[in-house]
Amino acid sequence: MSLSSLFPQLAGLRLEQVALAGETVTFHLAASTRFARCPLCTRRSKRVQSVYHRTVADRPLAGRRLLLRLRVRRFRCAARHCPRAIFAERFPKLVAAYGRRTLGQRDALEAIAFALGGSAGARLATRLGSPISRATLLRVLRCAAVPTWPAPRVLGVDDWALRKGHRYGTILVDLEQRRVIELLPERKAEPLIDWLQAHPGVEIVSRDRAPAYAEAARKGAPGVVQVADRWHLLQNLVDALERCLLRFRPTLKRAAGVGEAVIGPLPSPETIVMVPWQQRAEAVSQQKHTATVERYERMRALQAAGFTILDIAQLVGASRRTVYRYLALDSPPDRQRPARSGRRVLAPYEAYLIQRWTAGCRNRSRLFREIRLQGYRHSARTVSLFLQRLEHDPSTSAVGTSGSTVTRVPSARHVASLLIWRKDQLSDEERAYLQRLCDHEPTITHAYELAQAFAEMARERTGQAFEAWLASVAASGIAELQRFAGSLMDDRAAVKAGLTLAWSNGQTEGQVNKLKLLKRQMYGRANFDLLRRRVLQAA
Ligand SMILES: [Zn+2]
Repeated sequence: MSLSSLFPQLAGLRLEQVALAGETVTFHLAASTRFARCPLCTRRSKRVQSVYHRTVADRPLAGRRLLLRLRVRRFRCAARHCPRAIFAERFPKLVAAYGRRTLGQRDALEAIAFALGGSAGARLATRLGSPISRATLLRVLRCAAVPTWPAPRVLGVDDWALRKGHRYGTILVDLEQRRVIELLPERKAEPLIDWLQAHPGVEIVSRDRAPAYAEAARKGAPGVVQVADRWHLLQNLVDALERCLLRFRPTLKRAAGVGEAVIGPLPSPETIVMVPWQQRAEAVSQQKHTATVERYERMRALQAAGFTILDIAQLVGASRRTVYRYLALDSPPDRQRPARSGRRVLAPYEAYLIQRWTAGCRNRSRLFREIRLQGYRHSARTVSLFLQRLEHDPSTSAVGTSGSTVTRVPSARHVASLLIWRKDQLSDEERAYLQRLCDHEPTITHAYELAQAFAEMARERTGQAFEAWLASVAASGIAELQRFAGSLMDDRAAVKAGLTLAWSNGQTEGQVNKLKLLKRQMYGRANFDLLRRRVLQAA
């Protein structure tokens, strides 16, 4: 078998000797050709002037460190006037000109560094047969090429949490090419201004309504068309409607009536309807807890009977540490709630999701958007997982409807979000409820019309109606909507563009979610520089 069929990177080289010393294998290699090409003028030369040796590290061989000791010839260039009179032969498919590691080894170390960062990466690499220090590994990472993308025509801007509640950065997305083109370490205006000035050519900036990004776009790329994100606009509208409805609490109650079928089980944390798989998890958790309590009682009884800790440990079948821990408690340990992580954030919306699901809505992104309007602030993935489980648990439908006989007064937030839905998307109960609400209170009727008009502009992108809409809000006398309209006037051009152009930040938000996933894969070692490199390479 030829050398290059086992080691393709060594094609064109001749293996002269293999040496094993401790945990290091050394291949002694020399080029198998008689000539080499001048790197400057590319002429072939056979005139060897001298020879030297160069050692580079390759990927480990069966767990051992592999070194390649290359015999390198210096040639005299054959072209008479070539300024590079003498050149050394190169092995471009194997190693960079002055590299100390082969290209393959460099890729492997980059991958480890990307995945684990400096210290953990250096430990793993060393363990796998590539001894390297943390500092060197980080240097490998910094030298890794970061792709630079051309300035996009349509730029999406959003913020993302480097450390939630502590540090935020800015993500820049090429909305036409659908890729992340840069991460900035802050969410202030200045770094974005600098970036925009260094990347002329952006024509449209789609952003949320944070003033910092508006300012940055204005200063960094004057003349650019700014687009306020439609989704944020609708959320702001729902906020305003909620504040308005809060003035009419008694009306919300009256319209709900007593004993009449209204809007199914509504989201409130105390009244969560449990679906069967939740009930099972709950049951398992309770069983475990019962066993724990029994164990605790037995330990107490044995202690009271005068047994030593060691005896108790053996009799109960626990470690001495556990016995100490239990006996230090005044009462049995509390039960750990099942499934505390992912679904806890969804808990207030589960009842609502079940109800919509039961009513036949199977559009996941739509349901995600609906609960976002009600205040849900977490990932679409959590919602999607929940709906997946609903789908695979056909018995849930019974649960969803069983709750709807209970009459509850819907929250102002919930009603506010109903007000911007397309009317044909409402259930019969919802439609009837809104009708009663409007019958009772003309202000709500008026607010409903204005909300529908705005939502329609956002949906159909008929921003040319925006000015007329502003005028009817001004004339409406509804203070909450007037304040909302006032905030839109401060950002008038971008809002109008947002209601007219097809661009929106939905895609940017999707990229932010991917970023979160990457961060999690890096086990929290999300040093900004590292994360940036990974994101841009993945782009
Ligand atoms: Zn030459």
